Amino acid sequence: MKIVVLGAGVVGTAAAWWLAKDGHEVTVVERHAAPAQGTSYSNAGLVSPGDATAWASPAALKTFVKALYTPDLGIRVKLRLDPYFYAWTWRFLFQCTTARMRANTLVKLRLAMHSRDCINRIEAETGIAYDQRRKGILYFFRSQQSFDTGADNYRFLGEHGLPIEIVDRRRLVELEPGLLGAAEKISGGVYSETDQTGDSRMFATRLSYHAERTLGVKFRFGTIVDALDVEGDRVVSVRTTQGPIAADAFVLSMGPESGVFARRHGIDLPVYPVKGYTATIPLIDAARGPTMGGADEDRLIGYSRLGDRLRLSSTAEFAGFDRSHKPSDFRTMLETARDLFPGAFDEERAELWAGLRPMMPNSVPVIGRARYDNLYLDTGHGHVGWTMAAGSGQVLADLVAGRKPEIDPQGLAYAS
Ligand SMILES: Cc1cc2nc3c(=O)[nH]c(=O)nc-3n(C[C@H](O)[C@H](O)[C@H](O)COP(=O)(O)OP(=O)(O)OC[C@H]3O[C@@H](n4cnc5c(N)ncnc54)[C@H](O)[C@@H]3O)c2cc1C
Repeated sequence: MKIVVLGAGVVGTAAAWWLAKDGHEVTVVERHAAPAQGTSYSNAGLVSPGDATAWASPAALKTFVKALYTPDLGIRVKLRLDPYFYAWTWRFLFQCTTARMRANTLVKLRLAMHSRDCINRIEAETGIAYDQRRKGILYFFRSQQSFDTGADNYRFLGEHGLPIEIVDRRRLVELEPGLLGAAEKISGGVYSETDQTGDSRMFATRLSYHAERTLGVKFRFGTIVDALDVEGDRVVSVRTTQGPIAADAFVLSMGPESGVFARRHGIDLPVYPVKGYTATIPLIDAARGPTMGGADEDRLIGYSRLGDRLRLSSTAEFAGFDRSHKPSDFRTMLETARDLFPGAFDEERAELWAGLRPMMPNSVPVIGRARYDNLYLDTGHGHVGWTMAAGSGQVLADLVAGRKPEIDPQGLAYAS
C-alpha cells in the first residue's frame, strides 16, 4: 500500500519505519526542514516505563487546583478563553479517580515496556547511535512523606511487570555516585533498572536517514499539511502547500497539532498542548554529574545524561500553543541541578528550549483507525512520547496489516 504519515516527530518517524518494513511505500510529510523539530527536539531524554503512571489521579486533582494560585509549583495553569482547554480539563477531571488512573497506567505501562524493547530492536537492526544509556533511572524523593506516598505508584508498576527496587539513601548513592554530594537531602527512591535514556532527536533523525536509505521512505520536508480530501468513507489525498498527495492510507502523527487538525475533520480527538522546558548543558566535570537518568520527584524535575551533555526538564504549563521561553522559566531546574550536581556543568552554555506535550486527558495515546476506513491515528503520547513512540509504530503496523498485535492493544483504540 501507499501510506502517507503526517508529521516527522519521533512518533511519525517510528511509524514510517515499521510500515516500510512491512513493504509499504511510505511518504512522510513534515512542515519543518528536518525530522524532530517539534516536541521530539529536546525532551528529558528518559525512556521510562517507570514514568507510566497516568497524570490524571486523585492527587493531580488537588495539585491542579493548587496550581491556579501557586505560581512556582512546577505545574502552571494560565486561565484563558479557549473552549478546548475547558473541554480537555472537564475530561481530565473524569479520569482523576483511582480506578481510572490505574486502568490508564496499565495501558501505558504495557505499551511503554514494549516500546523500550522496540527501541532496542531498532538500535540492534540499524546500529544507530543516539547517546543511549541502559543503566536504569532513579526516581527519588526529598521528604520522607513524599517518599512514603510516592513509592506506592511505583509499587503498582512493580506488581504489573516492571522490575523496580525501593532504595534507601545508602543504596541510592551506591547506584548513582553522582548524587553523593546531595545524599543528605534525599530520603530514598525507586530504581527502575530496565529504564534507559537517549536523545530522541538523534534517534528520529538517524532513523529517518536509515529508513530513506534502506527502505525507500520518502520525506517531504518544508511541506505543510492543510487538509484531508475525502470521498465517501475514505481519505483519497492530503492537501499540502506542495500540492495534493494521494495514497491508500494515512497516519496522523502531528503531535500537539493533531487535536486541532482532527477536529477540523470531524474527529473528536482531545489532544491538548502542555508546555514544558528543557536545558541542555555541556558537562565540564563528568565525574560530578549523573551516570544515569533521574527524577527529583519533589521538585518535578527530570534529567538525563546524553553523552557529555546534561539534559534537564521541568514544568507542565497550560498556555495554549505558546512555545516562547524566558530565563526565569529555567530558574528552579538550574538551581536544582546546581544543588544535585555542583561543579558538573557549564551553565553559561546551556541551550534553552520549550516544547508542547501532545496530551490526552487520560494520558493514553490513540493508536488505530478513526472515522474513515483508511485514516489511522498514532498520536497523543503526552509526557512519555519518546518512550512510547517505537512501540506505537510497531502496534500501528500490526493493525494496518491486520495481524494480531504483539501486545494487547486494548485501551489504545480511538473512542469518540
Ligand atoms: C519538556 C518535555 C519533556 C519531555 N520528556 C520526556 C521524556 O523524558 N521521555 C518521554 O518519553 N517523553 C518526554 N516528553 C514527551 C515527548 O517528547 C513527546 O510525547 C513526543 O516527542 C511527541 O512526539 P510526536 O512525534 O507525537 O510530536 P512532535 O515531535 O511534535 O512531532 C509532530 C510533527 O508534526 C509536524 N506537524 C504538525 N503540524 C503539521 C502540519 N500542519 N504540516 C506538516 N507537519 C506538521 C510538526 O512539525 C512535528 O515535527 C517530554 C516533552 C516535553 C515537552
